[in-house]
Amino acid sequence: MTTSPTLNFDTDWSYAPAPETAAVDIADHYGLFIDGHFVDAKSGATFDTINPATEKELATVAEAADADVDAAVNAARSAYEKTWSKLPAADRGKYLFRIARLLQERAREFAVIESMDGGKPIRESRDVDVPLAAAHFFYYAGWADKLGYAFPGKDTPRPLGVCGQVIPWNFPLLMAAWKLAPALACGNTVVLKPAETTPLTALKLAELIRDAELPAGVVNILPGAGATGSAIVNHPGVDKVAFTGSTAVGKAIARSLASTDKKFTLELGGKAANLVFADAAIDQAVEGIVNGIFFNQGHVCCAGSRLLVEESIHDELIAKLQDRMQTLIVGDPLDKNTDIGAINSKPQLEKIEHYLKLGSDEGAEKWQPDSSLPDQGYFCKPTLFLHCAQSSSVVRDEIFGPVLAVQTFRTFDEAMTKANNTPYGLSGGVWTDKGAKVFKATAKVRAGVVWANTFNKFDPSSPFGGYKESGVGREGGLHGLKEYCALN
Ligand code: NAD
Ligand code: MN
Repeated sequence: MTTSPTLNFDTDWSYAPAPETAAVDIADHYGLFIDGHFVDAKSGATFDTINPATEKELATVAEAADADVDAAVNAARSAYEKTWSKLPAADRGKYLFRIARLLQERAREFAVIESMDGGKPIRESRDVDVPLAAAHFFYYAGWADKLGYAFPGKDTPRPLGVCGQVIPWNFPLLMAAWKLAPALACGNTVVLKPAETTPLTALKLAELIRDAELPAGVVNILPGAGATGSAIVNHPGVDKVAFTGSTAVGKAIARSLASTDKKFTLELGGKAANLVFADAAIDQAVEGIVNGIFFNQGHVCCAGSRLLVEESIHDELIAKLQDRMQTLIVGDPLDKNTDIGAINSKPQLEKIEHYLKLGSDEGAEKWQPDSSLPDQGYFCKPTLFLHCAQSSSVVRDEIFGPVLAVQTFRTFDEAMTKANNTPYGLSGGVWTDKGAKVFKATAKVRAGVVWANTFNKFDPSSPFGGYKESGVGREGGLHGLKEYCALN
């Protein structure tokens, strides 16, 4: 039996320490969060989560297996039937507003733990992950008592029941918010599994949800690895599955659900083209390219990992990009000056290093800045591959690291053909001074989100999701709400 530590956290922002020095309380051990309580796994199994920047253990965490999944699904079912789906919608909304506000109050603590457990720069967890997670809860809290107006021409939507949700390690808290908020707003209950390298902010969120006094069993959090995820997805008591992760696992889930009547949404990989036309504002484009591929070490499904640049400005743009990359600081995720933090895990670093070698072996020209890397921890220099052939693995495969493959084009049509020459279709970027070209290109790039003269911009009201092998369904906005309800 595990109890969470009592936090004595200064929530008065004006007196709080800088986030990178804020004291955080990470317990030695965390349990599974089932039916409102932290409990150990029935088998007693645990795993360690480490800080990838130091390779030091942060905590041991209970690992859920079939019997625990069963207990959590039963708790979620009972909460669904007895309380959550019966609550007045405005009350559900109040709980979600409460979660959103508590997240804001504890923002610094969540940001620090997110950076320690997963390796992302504190500037990002502080300015992007945590505020956006809170914004997501605020946004869907607002819909909870307005569902009857959400889909004109339809009756007030009904909830689906128990949702099984599996999330990845690249945005641990934010993905938990993306999954939980719309599900709960519609009246569903949830069993959610965080990724094995980053369970801590989901467990902190479980503490926060308990503190917000949500009825027991409405949210259950089960840490574990693939087997735990599979047990959740395949549990007969689960009515809807939401998964974010690799295309390989997404395909396996789609296969296993094909013979069931479970609803599912899959948010999978990407290999987005970031297209820069000769008429673009070059300095602005350089910032957008850097943000597109080096944000969160490139562990971003919608990362702009392919740069397609119009041939006439290639040399000028690459020279400016290289100058900018010389200034990027790779290092301690808790230092607010850090631009690129730690690679999330050793296997992920090995995967990236495999591609760094493969790209060169296949004939692309590798370029890295002179910056040095810390001696300890999993780090990788931001990397360009110049003059890439379309057949190159670094152009075709999702690397999920700070690695940008550069290609050129001469005509608009060639740019579109190259941009769409991928099995993925999650996102894209277009940089041009011409509004007409923006509309022409965004209509032709086959991707769920296409940014124009910006990149990696997120808002809870905007739908997000993929075409082709990037997944099915949408998250965010009304489209995301629809995935969690039945409509007549
Ligand atoms: P993964 O798909 O294996 O893991 C994602 C989540 O799914 C984790 O919580 C994991 O425990 C769980 N999982 C694993 N196997 C499962 C199964 N059979 N059934 C149910 N859940 C299962 O991804 P990964 O191994 O962590 O990363 C591998 C690659 O996937 C990365 O290099 C990257 O290319 C891609 N990826 C994409 C995203 C994304 O946001 N689209 C996120 C993470 C990883
Ligand atoms: Mn970790």
